[in-house]
Amino acid sequence: MDTTVTALQPSASHSTGEYALHRASWVVPVSRPPIPNGAVLAAGNRILLGGPYGEVKRESPSAATEWDHGDAALIPGLVNGHCHLELSAMRGRMVLPKAGFPQWLSDLLALRGCLDSAQLQEGFHSGLKYLQSGGVALCGDITGGFLPNAACEGDFPERQVFWELIGFNLLSLSDALDGGGFGSLSSIRDEWWVSLAAHACYSTSAPVIVEAKEWCRKTNRVFTIHTAEHTEEMEFLRDGTGYCRALLETLGKWAPCWAPPRATPVDYLDRLGVLDARTLLVHAVHMKEDDWKTVAASKAAVCFCPRSNRNMGVGKADIPSALRHGVTACIGTDSLASNGDLNLLAEGVQVLNDHPSVRPETVLQMLTLNGAKALGRERDYGTLEPGRRAAIAAIPLPGFVPPWELAEAILHGGNGEVIQWCRCPAKN
Ligand SMILES: [Zn+2]
Repeated sequence: MDTTVTALQPSASHSTGEYALHRASWVVPVSRPPIPNGAVLAAGNRILLGGPYGEVKRESPSAATEWDHGDAALIPGLVNGHCHLELSAMRGRMVLPKAGFPQWLSDLLALRGCLDSAQLQEGFHSGLKYLQSGGVALCGDITGGFLPNAACEGDFPERQVFWELIGFNLLSLSDALDGGGFGSLSSIRDEWWVSLAAHACYSTSAPVIVEAKEWCRKTNRVFTIHTAEHTEEMEFLRDGTGYCRALLETLGKWAPCWAPPRATPVDYLDRLGVLDARTLLVHAVHMKEDDWKTVAASKAAVCFCPRSNRNMGVGKADIPSALRHGVTACIGTDSLASNGDLNLLAEGVQVLNDHPSVRPETVLQMLTLNGAKALGRERDYGTLEPGRRAAIAAIPLPGFVPPWELAEAILHGGNGEVIQWCRCPAKN
């Protein structure tokens, strides 16, 4: 086991703020094996070094404040790869589980129409708090208009915001932006944490998907899209028929000239040229073997939302296949319209229950490092390596836990009430 102290010379940007030395029975950097009786030294909001307690202590300035977390695992703040915080006001209002996407969507539309903007705002902020209490340091948040706020820059969770574009009958990105009331893209050019999402292949036109991805590519941002979530989506792209077609016609969004690509969603997106290492596909429930090969070859990442899929009754994603193909796979809660809570560790436990062949260590990596990679933020989040944000969560352990049981104990140990942030926010 490599438990070497990794030191980083403090730079000007790292040395601002006070020194904090956190120790616990286990330090779990994720990027390397767990360290028994470990410690992490942070200066301000950055990690300076980590390793065995004795060695880190020796390297620490005498002014460092020491915190002993006892029987606990210090882990990187979790990364929720996909959520919709603006739907948090739906918590407890949807009867779950549903019998499929059509039933879920019709209930969602009916209930959402009853919520006023004050309720939506309040829900949004409560959603942020749920994430914070569950140890989430970073989330990929899909929004139709909840703009970035101060929380993006300072307190956890940071939001990596995706403005969502919808419009099956629209001919260009500017049409979609106008229709969504976004204004021009120049207004977010300097807001690096804001990117674009297309809703899905059955609800956003090909030109809008292609142009949105092109803008993300030019500005070096991650692009995301719901992909292969339900059988209705598969039928629509294959035959142009079914629930999605009827929905578009009912909403007046049907495009009469459109012809079905007769492809899977992944194949369709590949033909559009939008799959690359900075594309994040969400759900990936209905995937063929060739789809996994295509995703793996493109290096696109995938975010699985197992409890949302289960609650909507759309099926179960084949996570072991994604991992076997070497796909960067992360995990998201989706929204409180299709999930009972935003507890990411519970999402990880669901993966263990659904897929006994997936190791707990792998799930922990999906919840941290892989999520950070998928959102393009691995320089700041996902591990406890020097230079990363000091987003350190302490998961209490029931006394001594051997290394081979550690990851599973962590996944089962956090339930939102017991997770402690080591430094989050500063007022904590
Ligand atoms: Zn979603």
